[in-house]
Amino acid sequence: MKFGGTSVADVDRIRNVAAHVAREVKAGNEVAVVVSAMAGETNRLVALCREAAPLHDAREYDAVVSSGENVTSGLLAIVLQTMGIEARSWQGWQIPMRTNEAHGAARIADIDGSQIIERFGRGQVAVIAGFQGLSPLNRISTLGRGGSDTTAVALAAALKADRCDIYTDVDGVYTTDPRIVKSARRLPQISHEEMLEMASLGAKVLHVRSVELAMLYEVPLMVCSSFADPAVTPPGTLITGENIDMEAETVTSIAYSRDEAQVTLRDVPDAPGVAHRVFGPLADANINVDMIVQNISDDGSTTDITFTVPQSEFDRAMATLEEQRETIRFAKLLGDTDVVKVSVIGVGMRSHAGVAATAFKALGERSINIRAITTSEIKISVLIDSAYTELAVRTLHSVYGLDKVAH
Ligand code: ADP
Ligand code: ASP
Ligand code: MG
Repeated sequence: MKFGGTSVADVDRIRNVAAHVAREVKAGNEVAVVVSAMAGETNRLVALCREAAPLHDAREYDAVVSSGENVTSGLLAIVLQTMGIEARSWQGWQIPMRTNEAHGAARIADIDGSQIIERFGRGQVAVIAGFQGLSPLNRISTLGRGGSDTTAVALAAALKADRCDIYTDVDGVYTTDPRIVKSARRLPQISHEEMLEMASLGAKVLHVRSVELAMLYEVPLMVCSSFADPAVTPPGTLITGENIDMEAETVTSIAYSRDEAQVTLRDVPDAPGVAHRVFGPLADANINVDMIVQNISDDGSTTDITFTVPQSEFDRAMATLEEQRETIRFAKLLGDTDVVKVSVIGVGMRSHAGVAATAFKALGERSINIRAITTSEIKISVLIDSAYTELAVRTLHSVYGLDKVAH
């Protein structure tokens, strides 16, 4: 069982979490619980690091930001104990949950589940601090924002759990973010593949790597709400390896990501090798490039190249290109961070034509200008002005017939 930030926001909410855990224990299950920090706490800790020094040591950042989960795991163990349930908290290093050395965005390398399994034998519930691990040099590492989901799935795989239930503040995975589209529908079941696409395209209900691990280790996931009555197992969305009803729906969801920034190079020589001169240095600087558009040149001599990078890498991308001004020989370097990527997702797209045309027409009719487009077999993404995010998501949600039907 994994509980996110809003589910453990204060001691009262932690009592409610304990009631969900108690239900599963009483049903005869062996339970490991992964908790996030209290809502807002990790943001507060990140801000403290920035205040201390805008550019800071990633190892010390991890030492600071991992602490929110230490608090909630201890508190949940205390509350469970007062209810007569034997419980013990575990920090990442105590398990240990080993990661690589990529502080701030570490990947889990290995989990030793033996101590927890041994304690299960004694009737103990394990409460694990999510988001954190132990680096090869025995320092605390963190898995990247939203990483507690990944702790939970990795642990479920290591313990060979029957289920991994992700409790959050919505009662499942919806056709789009229910916070911005009221008519979004809850999906009773979706495939790992589709969930992976949704998460990678911005649906933050699950951390991307948690879905990758669920797919790899065949862990069935259930997303449900901790705000449901703790006396009964809540309904939710089941995410499994099965591709269900692939023929039924062409488009199953709409996602958006604000974590995009646009970079444009004006008047770049239209000659062989230019893309390499632009993207080579970015790759060397470890900057992820996502959407790429190269215009057809008007005069056959120069062209424009537009692409996107994550917001957090925007400044570095601009600086890297500026350094290469002489080699690339562009006339102007332009950047814009007021952009959003909106995506239409569905495995059924593989076998249907005209899906993209529908999106372009609908956006055009609402006068939403498209700055860049990318597609794959199962998704179409467009980059637009961030001011139009909600309008675009709502428009696409209804044009593909995803709105809830009123009864
Ligand atoms: P937690 O703190 O429990 O990890 P998150 O805030 O990370 O919770 O994720 C839950 C949020 O994800 C919801 O409140 C919702 O606004 C958002 N979300 C975005 N896309 C979707 C979607 N397709 N279905 C459900 N929730 C979504
Ligand atoms: N507390 C961490 C964060 O806010 C991890 C998580 O909640 O999943 O990013
Ligand atoms: Mg989350």
